[in-house]
Order: sequence, then structure tokens, then C-alpha cells
Amino acid sequence: MTQQRKAVALISGGLDSMLATKVVLDLGIHVEGINFYTGFCVEGHTHAIRNKHQARPKRNNALWVAEQLGIKLHIIEVIEEYKNVVLNPKHGYGQHMNPCLDCKGFMVRKAHEWITENGFDFIVTGEVMGQRPMSQRRDTMPVVARESGANDLLLRPLCAKHLAPTRPEREGWIDREKLLDFHGRSRKPQIALAAKYGLNDYAQPAGGCCFLTNEQYSHKLTDLFAARGKRDYELDDIMLLKVGRHLRPRPNFKVIVGREEGENNYLEGYRHQFTHLRTVSHSGPLALVDGDASDADLELAAQIVARYSQGREANQVSVSITRVGETARIVEVVPFAQDAVPQEWHV
Ligand code: SF4
Repeated sequence: MTQQRKAVALISGGLDSMLATKVVLDLGIHVEGINFYTGFCVEGHTHAIRNKHQARPKRNNALWVAEQLGIKLHIIEVIEEYKNVVLNPKHGYGQHMNPCLDCKGFMVRKAHEWITENGFDFIVTGEVMGQRPMSQRRDTMPVVARESGANDLLLRPLCAKHLAPTRPEREGWIDREKLLDFHGRSRKPQIALAAKYGLNDYAQPAGGCCFLTNEQYSHKLTDLFAARGKRDYELDDIMLLKVGRHLRPRPNFKVIVGREEGENNYLEGYRHQFTHLRTVSHSGPLALVDGDASDADLELAAQIVARYSQGREANQVSVSITRVGETARIVEVVPFAQDAVPQEWHV
């Protein structure tokens, strides 16, 4: 009797890993999925809390993929371990703060540890040669296989024909002829394959699976490091960078202003950790202050918050300021004029 072979697939929630998994499932392999939660994942965060994205389904796409394919999904939190990938990437960053090559190596290494502990045979990813400029190049794909320690137990079904045969192919666990030869940045082959499988309604994230590929987010992260005087972060820091307008009027503090109801509600959850401000005389946003702000700094913050309230045209706006563990005090401020908030304050 032939042995039932087992693979684990890295599931991001996007189309490529979904298709790669489907290809391997159809070759008779038992597949389970792993989704790593780094804290930077786009997955279901911002669009889940912002009202303007209400038309989009609020779903966890990795779980949705697993459900569509009928496989078990393991969601593994790697927030602490992942810090070293973001802070000290051996291969550097991509266009922004995205350490894609180190990130891929890290995730495949974690998957390799997982298959070793769980008696699985190999690892599947949805990588396509030439699709992404850093981690999915002909010269960098072998780096991921080598540095992760997975070596020839790493199978990329969507572009396997461009790569040397891996152990699952050589040993006949799967038929190499049934694997694919996708290459380059065009999404057409994936879209056609999805149609062939009858898969639709899949997620189409723009620009990558995490916020580190986002220019604005990367600015906010480097600003955080500069303001703190050290390259380090906590989960709350990187979650808050995904939400609100961030303004730094002075080096010692930053104001995070909710842009709409969903964000205000989200920021409410941080009221007990941060000095917070809200307009009293007019409806307006909730704002948090990150840093060590004096009373004069907080009055400046109040003018900023008033600028984004319904009282922006008023001569005076009342704003409540609450420091952590203290009762609120009310200040009367003149809101900044629309064009008086210097552009360089926007992080
Ligand atoms: S986009 Fe983000 S999650 Fe994806 S490989 Fe790059 S750093 Fe990793």
C-alpha cells in the first residue's frame, strides 16, 4: 500500500496560495494550511473597522480559503519572533519597510519546524517566479529554500517547472508533469486557473499581504522608531499605525485622530492607555496622544482635534483632555484653519 503523503501549505488568504494548495490536493496529497499572524497583516483589519469599506465582506480570507478548499487551517501567532525579521533583515528591505526575503525564509522555516513536529512530508507555497521583485526571483527563491532549512521539501506548484525537481517530485509522491510553469507579474494564468476550478470571490489584496509594503504605513513605522529613539515596537504600536490620521506637531508627541466612526470606536479601546481628547461643544473625532506631552502640547493637540470636528469653522471649540488615571479637564481653543495644519506634521 502506498503511504498517504501529507503537506502543509502557507495560506495567506490570497489567490496564489489557494491555487497552489488546490493543485496539490488534486494530486491526492493530504493538505493542511498554516497562516502566520505577524501583527502587520492586512487581513481583515482596516476594512473591517472602517465604515467606508462596508460593502466588502468582513471575513478572514485565510479561513475562507480553507473553508473553500475543505482543509484544516492552523493560525499561528508569531508576533514576538517576527520582530527580528522586521528590525534586522539580513537581506534588507524592499521598496518600503517590507523585508520580504527574510520574511519568506522565516515563514518557511517555521513551517519546516511544524512539519517536523507533526509528521508531515513537505511544504507548499503559492510563490510564482518573477511575480514579486524581492522574494520571488529566480535567484532568491533558492535562498528561501536554503536559509529556511526546508531545502528540497519546499514545493512551489505554480512555477515548479521552472525549478529543479523537489523531493516530493523525485520520490514520486506527486507527478511533476501535473505541476505548473507560471512566470512573471501577469495575473492572467492564475485568474484562468481559478475559473477552471470554479473559484471566485477570492481576495485581491493590492500590493502585498501586509502593511509593510505600504508607503504611508512604512513612514509611520520609521517615525515611531525615530520618536522613541529605538527600533522596537509592541503589538499596540503597530496596530495603531493602521488606524487614524497621525500628526506629529512636536518631536515629543503625536496625535492620532479617528477619521470616521469605525476608527473612533476602535480608538475607544485605547482610552485607558493614552491621554485622549474629544470635542465637547461640537461633534468630532476621538484622538489619542502618544508620547510625553505637556499641558501646552495638549492645548495644541486640542486645536488639531477641533480642526477635524464639526466646529472647524467656529471661533471657539470646547475640548476635553483626559490624562491616564486623571479626570477630564475642558479647554476652549480656536481650531486650526483648514490649511494651517502644516503638511509636515502629517506622518
Ligand atoms: S508582503 Fe509582508 S508578509 Fe508578504 S512576504 Fe513581504 S514582508 Fe512578508
